[in-house]
Formats: sequence, structure tokens, C-alpha cells
Amino acid sequence: MFDKILIANRGEIALRIERACKELGIATVAVHSTADADAMHVKLADECVCIGPPAASESYLNIPQILAACEITSADAVHPGYGFLSENAKFAEILDEHGITFIGPTAEHIRLMGDKIAAKDTMTKLGVPVVPGSDSPLESDADAIKIAEEVGYPVLVKAAGGGGGRGMQVARSADELPHAISTARAEASAAFGDDRLYVEKYLTQPRHIEIQVLCDGQGTSLHLGERDCSLQRRHQKILEESPSPALNAEQRDDIGARVATAMLELGYRGVGTVEFLYDNGEFYFIEMNTRLQVEHPVTEMITGIDLVIEQIRIAAGSPLSLSQSDIQLNGTAIECRINAENPSTFMPSPGKITQFHQPGGLGVRVDSMAYAGYTIPPYYDSLIGKLIVHARNRNECLMRLRRALGEFVIEGVETTIPLFIKLVGEPDIVNGTYDIHWLENYLKKP
Ligand code: ADP
Repeated sequence: MFDKILIANRGEIALRIERACKELGIATVAVHSTADADAMHVKLADECVCIGPPAASESYLNIPQILAACEITSADAVHPGYGFLSENAKFAEILDEHGITFIGPTAEHIRLMGDKIAAKDTMTKLGVPVVPGSDSPLESDADAIKIAEEVGYPVLVKAAGGGGGRGMQVARSADELPHAISTARAEASAAFGDDRLYVEKYLTQPRHIEIQVLCDGQGTSLHLGERDCSLQRRHQKILEESPSPALNAEQRDDIGARVATAMLELGYRGVGTVEFLYDNGEFYFIEMNTRLQVEHPVTEMITGIDLVIEQIRIAAGSPLSLSQSDIQLNGTAIECRINAENPSTFMPSPGKITQFHQPGGLGVRVDSMAYAGYTIPPYYDSLIGKLIVHARNRNECLMRLRRALGEFVIEGVETTIPLFIKLVGEPDIVNGTYDIHWLENYLKKP
């Protein structure tokens, strides 16, 4: 097992990883930018190293500085969290060259799944159904028109190296394709430095359902059920739940087993999420995330498995001590992403939190770095915490969620809590009958 883990991240996830390290008796090193000197993850770590100015490119993405922090503190492993360097294959390789363990999959698997076209091709070969569309990067507009005609309009032009919901454009007809391509290309090259695009069928009423996997790379590959992340704004998740209100046990076992088998064949190691769109009873793979996800707590709540602890043990070379029959899904869990944003315009609302009172009681979990007196810096994403609620069934979970949201007090900055309070009263949310476009339509209503 490791003696000391450096956490190459910030915010609630850095804190979440510190908690797992503490339970395992592993010392922690926090790294931080000058803007985060007062952050909770810095206060609670055993050691801390300032790695640069506020801009993420000069701090949380600065590989030489992070490497230097590892050397200074003699950390023997790095946990990248999500975002930042978590899906950077080069970072995993550089750590390896320096004899430091990257807590995650192999660089080869990160690279493979980071290229969405290669990922779809790999999944097809492993017998996993994918969204119909291109099997290689677009070479011309004519190429795109040909594929769009094969799969039928509307189509979605997507960035091969995309993430965070960016670099995606819908085209409803051949006339709209050239514009969709040029917009997506510009966005992709600015955001990801990779302007390769592909086209796939745009599904009009799907749900986003993703399967959590846990693999030791030594012959055990498990699935931990699904998360339904259909409540989205601009292709970004805002509320997630497990199990999905749309699946029955047979469908869950079937897709879960297919994914776990595919991961075993791939020789995948670590935690991962295989994402699908689900439409008319069919699953269509869209991408795989080779890291811990923001929404991992809903899976932890219903399985009782600490995914970060498992991740660390696997990276240290321990085989999984669980088998598929040990994975029991109990009740329902729902997570709300609390952002420091105006709940109607979604404009970021950085600044000082003057009052902070988090809800508690049975089945209520809050993963947050916020506290009264904390100043949210303007440089990073606006997620300031996650409220996760667990209960014996979906109905009780919604009752508890309503109660917990009502108890949550954050003053001094605007947050998305009032939006969630409205959403939990909406019949489609209560009944679980919402798709990936539901929230955008709801927000358009006067
Ligand atoms: P990213 O890596 O940027 O998150 P994804 O491929 O995971 O991109 O897609 C993010 C979201 O975009 C999905 O959850 C879904 O809402 C929407 N989306 C992606 N592909 C399609 C598609 N083919 N049809 C309809 N919506 C899609």
C-alpha cells in the first residue's frame, strides 16, 4: 500500500479523496494555486504545496510543478480526481517514468477512450452497441453528408477529443451541416487542440444511462449498476440518480454484464464509466470516462462500496476481494450538483459565503468544500458541493431530498438550490419520466 498520496485536484473532489486516504491510513499532500490557499482541501491535508498562480494551466494542469511537489514530499502515488489531468495519458506516463503511481487505468486505455472514434470502434468490436455514425474522422463536408444520409437526420457533429459537453452541433438537414461542422471544428480546436470531428445519429428522446465498472486488471471485472443522468443543461449533468427509473432488473443485469465482459476482454484496470444513450429499450454507447465521476456517490450509496478506496487498492496492486454476487443494489440515491450560479441565468456567482448550514439526518450526504467565510474564487468551475440523498425507494428518496434541500442554507452567493427545490415538485421528475432534453425545454417555459 502507498505511504503518501498527492491529490492533483481541488474543491470537493480533493476533499473526497483525502477522506478515503485517511480511512486507509495514508498520508495526503494537497497541491493548490495561490487562489486556493484557504481552501478546505489544503486545510485538511497532512502537507500542502503551492504549485502556481490561479490559472489552471499554470497550476492544476502544470505537470512539472506537480511532479516537483511529488519529489519534495516523497509522495508515492497521485490521485488525479476528475477533470484537470485525470484523463491525460501523457501525465500517467510521466508519473510512471518517475516511479510514481498514477491512480487510474493504464495510459494506453486512457488514450484509447479519450479518442471517441477509437472508443466507439473498440466497443463495437467488443460487442457493445454504439450510436450509428462515422467510424473515422470526417474528411470533408461531402463525407458528413454521406454518413448523415445513411443514418438519417437529425445528426450530431461531435469532437473526437471532446468533453464537458463542448464541441457538439446538431444538424437537422444537409443545409445545416456545413455550418454545424465549421462551428464544431472551431470549438473543438479551441477547447481540445484537436479538430477531428465525427457524425452520429442525433437521438431525439433518449435517456443518459451510464454503467459504473470496477476492474482490477487481474481477472475481475464488476459492474455496479447504472446511473441515470438525463437531467442536463447544455449536455452537462445537474442531477443524477441510481437506479434509473427507466430500467428493470433484467435490462440492468443484461447491459451491466455486457459492459463488465467487454472491460474484462479489454484488460481494463480501475474504475470507469461506460456511457450510453437509452432509447426505445435499446442502449447506444457514446463514450467511456476512464476516471472517477462527479456523480460516483449515488453508486456508493446504493452499493455501500467506497469507490475511491477501491481505486486506491487496485492501483496499489491488490486484487478485488468482491465478486459480482457481492454487489447488491439497495434503495435509491439521488444527487444534486450545487453550483454557485444564478438559478435562472446560470451566471457564475463567485464571492464570499457568509452563512453555510448543510442538511443532515438519516440518508443525507453532503460532499462540499464550502464553509462560512470561504471565498469562492472566480477561476474554476462553479461546483461547490453535492447533496446526495439515499432512501429505501424512490418515493422516500424524493421526500428526503425535498426536506434536505429545504434545510440547506448558503448565503452570500447565489446557488442552484432554488432550481432543485422547484424541480423536485415537477410531475415528470416525481414520476421519473424525463429525457435528456427535458430540462432545456422546462427552462424555456415562462
Ligand atoms: P462529453 O464528453 O462532452 O460529455 P458525451 O458524448 O458524453 O460528451 O455527450 C454528452 C451529452 O450530450 C449526452 O449525455 C447527451 O445528452 C448528449 N448527446 C451526446 N451524443 C448524443 C446523440 N447522439 N444524440 C443526442 N444527444 C447526444
